[in-house]
Amino acid sequence: MKKLTVSRQVATKIKQGQSLLEKEDFESLPALDQPVQLLAGDGHSLGVGYLSEQNKGIGWFVSSEPLSFDLAFFQELFTRAKSYRSSYYSDASTTAFRLFNQEGDGFGGFTVDLYGEFVVFSWYNPYVFQIKETILAAFQAVFPEVRGAYEKIRFKGVEYESAFVYGEEAPKEFFILENGVSYQVFLNDGLMTGIFLDQHEVRASLVDGLAAGKSLLNMFSYTAAFSVAAAMGGAVQTTSVDLAKRSRELSEAHFVANGLALDDHRFVVMDVFDYYKYAKRHELSYDVIVIDPPSFARNKKRTFSVAKDYHRLVSEALEILNPGGILILSTNAANVNKEKFKKQIEKGFQGRKHRYLATYGLPADFRWNKKEESSNYLKVFTIKVDV
Ligand code: SAH
Repeated sequence: MKKLTVSRQVATKIKQGQSLLEKEDFESLPALDQPVQLLAGDGHSLGVGYLSEQNKGIGWFVSSEPLSFDLAFFQELFTRAKSYRSSYYSDASTTAFRLFNQEGDGFGGFTVDLYGEFVVFSWYNPYVFQIKETILAAFQAVFPEVRGAYEKIRFKGVEYESAFVYGEEAPKEFFILENGVSYQVFLNDGLMTGIFLDQHEVRASLVDGLAAGKSLLNMFSYTAAFSVAAAMGGAVQTTSVDLAKRSRELSEAHFVANGLALDDHRFVVMDVFDYYKYAKRHELSYDVIVIDPPSFARNKKRTFSVAKDYHRLVSEALEILNPGGILILSTNAANVNKEKFKKQIEKGFQGRKHRYLATYGLPADFRWNKKEESSNYLKVFTIKVDV
């Protein structure tokens, strides 16, 4: 295995339990896409990892043990990952959750999500893609009950982004359960699957009645999962706004799957900033507003970034929120930590009185490295206005 000496600073970071390796950590890099043994300046071994280019970082530290990334290694990781999720397995009202989450489960660079009887692997760099036969074989040994698997390519250099990998093919569209609510999913149509599993605790708060008897506006709604959760929890009216035309039909499918009549649930294909104007012009207002934008978005009219513009979403929302209303403010932007996100939110409030009711990060199945705050990318605040 290639040996690589790192600076004292990097050795300290690794000893503290951080695992993401960055380009700046190395003076010069050997060939990528191979395992490496990392050595401290005095020559003693820090452990093993690998180098590979991905969206963030240049590789991962894996273990202080001198192990190799073989079938037995991955079987052990998957066995631990499976037993860690025993509470999810024993809950019949939830059939979709994350089975393996990168460095949180002991190996950065890929994830595995369960959707009923099928799974989706997401590969984040060329090295994990290169060794995927070993990873898939180990997975099948530990999860023989899984009927079929798909993969998503989340790095540059492969001409497809989604494919079937083994077992039986899943139906083109089918339903999973989460907190007793049905959602329609599709495992082989681009990178998205119809639901973002990391939001299941926030959806649970809605199923549990946060919006019971209330009206809810869902901004950047995608397939309107928050709206369905709210409707199942007793919301009397929901409005879901997304720019993508396809969102309407996908959203309706979630509602129909749960036997909800569509009369009191609206789907609007519109830019959210235009919808704010539309709502004001038509004197529409809401008791609960959910805002969950992409980190960056560009369309014909404007560009939006969570880091710079989130405050505008908040101040606009306050203009159409009913007295005593609730905002659910969410972001998964990796470049915006909790403090920065709070600053954006507070800027949007412009001193208006409000109270934080709940804070969410990644749920337990999205196991993250507690030594690396940045790996907990999800930040959600439930805020009551006008107390
Ligand atoms: N909140 C959703 C996930 C949002 S994904 C959920 O919980 O499932 C981001 C969505 O924002 C995409 O569906 C995209 O079409 C939409 N989007 C991006 N820019 C937009 C804009 N300016 N106005 C409305 N929707 C937008």
